[in-house]
Amino acid sequence: MSAVIATSASNPGQADRVNLLGLPLAAMEAFFLELGEKKFRAQQVLKWIHHHGVTDFEQMSNLGKALREKLAASAEIRPPEIVSQSDSTDGTRKWAIRVDGGGLVETVLIPDGSRATLCVSSQVGCSLDCSFCSTGKQGFQRDLSAAEIIGQVWLAIKSYNGFQSGKGRVVTNVVMMGMGEPLLNFDNVVAAMDLMMEDNAYGISKRRVTLSTSGVVPALDELAKVSEVSLAVSLHAPNDALRNELVPINRKYPIARLLESCRNYIDAQKDTKRVVTVEYTLIAGVNDQLEHARELAALLKGFPCKINLIPFNPFPQSDYCRPSGNAVSRFWQVLVDAGYIVTVRTTRGDDIDAACGQLVGQVVDRTRRSQRYRDAAQQDENRVG
Ligand code: SAH
Ligand code: SF4
Repeated sequence: MSAVIATSASNPGQADRVNLLGLPLAAMEAFFLELGEKKFRAQQVLKWIHHHGVTDFEQMSNLGKALREKLAASAEIRPPEIVSQSDSTDGTRKWAIRVDGGGLVETVLIPDGSRATLCVSSQVGCSLDCSFCSTGKQGFQRDLSAAEIIGQVWLAIKSYNGFQSGKGRVVTNVVMMGMGEPLLNFDNVVAAMDLMMEDNAYGISKRRVTLSTSGVVPALDELAKVSEVSLAVSLHAPNDALRNELVPINRKYPIARLLESCRNYIDAQKDTKRVVTVEYTLIAGVNDQLEHARELAALLKGFPCKINLIPFNPFPQSDYCRPSGNAVSRFWQVLVDAGYIVTVRTTRGDDIDAACGQLVGQVVDRTRRSQRYRDAAQQDENRVG
């Protein structure tokens, strides 16, 4: 536990107050217009919240007293509550965050030189039940609100006193690779990602915000119309029979449809150089054989992608095993020989995992998810130049 806990509100907000933390620019403007105020107030308040970390309207010195009082009566700025924090010797910092209703999620910041990647959760649990995923084993509890999603960025910056001027950026990259399937919480995730990229808020470039999905095709098609974030897709198998077992949503949206949707997403971007990151968790004896690698190479031929191989992180409720280093290398080699850019995630220092296990005890397998977060950050390192 640390002093940062004092930065988060401990009382649930009043139901009738709007939490301004989660409002992107357009919604904030609508809020002010409805209040009978000028639209430009939205930018001022966004800056107070996301540039300066201010949660008290009284501190917003460029708003008149009457407006400050009006805001205090109808709105609030309320980040989620940090219940604990742990620091690794390798610089990784991890928070367990309690959201309204008692659910817990995790957020992890992985600094690496001038880069620092924040892994953000989008849901409490997940309904998609991928066979190798500890979050899936918990089942689904609820969607996070936009305030709870962007609140993870806010809390991370606050915990490093990063809102003070003159400091470098605490968070340079965001990956939506924490708990949950982001495309099943579409509106809130899009609103939060808009705030990540909004100049009046965090101003992170679209290439440095990555959404990872297991393949909710209709939502991905919608995303192409409203967002330009980087895309990662959790493939994990080179054919439908195997993917149906590992990623059950494949039965609804099979590989061909998913890849077509990914391609449409890339084509919709103005930026011609973009590629999809294909995530492939290698599970010993399940999807890590040479024939799988060859099949994957053939499947992705001509598809604009990079491939990230993630050796499976075991957890108690799972019978799967991590493949040997040799098995991973052989798989990697087949793909490299076929001309792909392929990265393999390696294990990094583990020293906060034990502490993580104590953070939110009843939730399964904190330890392994922590490794997953580091994997995600490493994937991101390779994605953004
Ligand atoms: N729901 C989204 C984002 C969260 S999962 C998705 O599925 O893409 C983030 C990444 O971690 C995904 O690629 C997921 O497949 C991977 N992952 C989940 N459990 C894992 C495990 N036990 N070992 C290795 N990777 C895992
Ligand atoms: Fe959900 Fe992603 Fe885990 Fe699948 S891998 S259960 S979609 S969080």
